[in-house]
Amino acid sequence: MNQTDCRLRIGGITDMSTIDWYGNVSLIVFFAGCNFRCPYCQNASLIPLNSGQDIDLSLLEERIDTNRTLIDAVVFTGGEPLLQLNGLIKAAKLSKSKGLKVMLDTNGSIQDALENILNLGLIDRVALDIKAPLKEEMIGKITGRPEVATKIIKSIKKCISLCQELDISLEIRTTVVPGISDDPLFISEIAETLKDKCSVYYLQQFDNQGDLFDQDLKQVLPPSREFMIALAKTAVEKGLKNVYIKTRSDGLERVE
Ligand code: SF4
Repeated sequence: MNQTDCRLRIGGITDMSTIDWYGNVSLIVFFAGCNFRCPYCQNASLIPLNSGQDIDLSLLEERIDTNRTLIDAVVFTGGEPLLQLNGLIKAAKLSKSKGLKVMLDTNGSIQDALENILNLGLIDRVALDIKAPLKEEMIGKITGRPEVATKIIKSIKKCISLCQELDISLEIRTTVVPGISDDPLFISEIAETLKDKCSVYYLQQFDNQGDLFDQDLKQVLPPSREFMIALAKTAVEKGLKNVYIKTRSDGLERVE
C-alpha cells in the first residue's frame, strides 16, 4: 500500500502558524470529531463525528510539499485527532518522512490510542488540555461528559505518565473562562497535580469570538491580561516551572 493511501476526516488545514507550537513554524491539521462538549470550545462545528470533509492523505502531502521550505513542524489538532488513530498514524509518518517535527493536541481521554502512537516514535511533543482539577464533578461539567468523568480522569493521568516514561515533551494547557475556570483555587489545584510532570504550562485566555459551542458565552468578556498574570502566579507558587499566559493582546508571556 502506498504511504498516502489513506483517508482522513478534517475541518481544514492552515499552511503556516507561529503560535500553535512556539518556536516553530507549523502546518496545522484540524481533525474533525470530538468526544467532549466543552462550553467554550471554539471549533464547535468540528465536534460532530461526521463534520468536516473526507480527504485523501495525498492532499496533506501536497500541502506539506508546497510549504516545506517554510515550515519545520506539523501540528495535529481538532476536534480530537486520536479518534482517527489509523489516519493520524499515517499522517504523522508522512510528516516525519518529510523531516518535520510533529506535535499532537489532545484532550487526553483516549489513553490507549495515545500509547499506541507514542510507542511508534511519531510524536515529538504532546499538548494536553487539563480543563479542570482532576475531580469527577469538575471534569464532568467542563467536558460535558459527566457519565464518563472517572474514565476521563484515569486516562488523563495515564497520558501524563506515558509522556514522562517515554521522555516526550509535554505541554499542558488550561483555558481561563470567566465564571467557569477562573478561580485561583481551581488553577492552583490543577498546578498541584502537574508539579514536576510537564515541560510547560500555558494559561490560555478565553476568546468570545468564533465558533463557540455555548453561544451564551458570546456575552462573556475575555479575562484581562492582568488577571491572567495573577492566576499564573498561583501556578508558579505551587512550584510549576515555565508558566506562561497567552492573550490576544500580548501573545505569549512568561510569568515568574
Ligand atoms: S475544546 Fe473540548 S469540545 Fe472543543 S475540540 Fe477541544 S476537547 Fe473537543
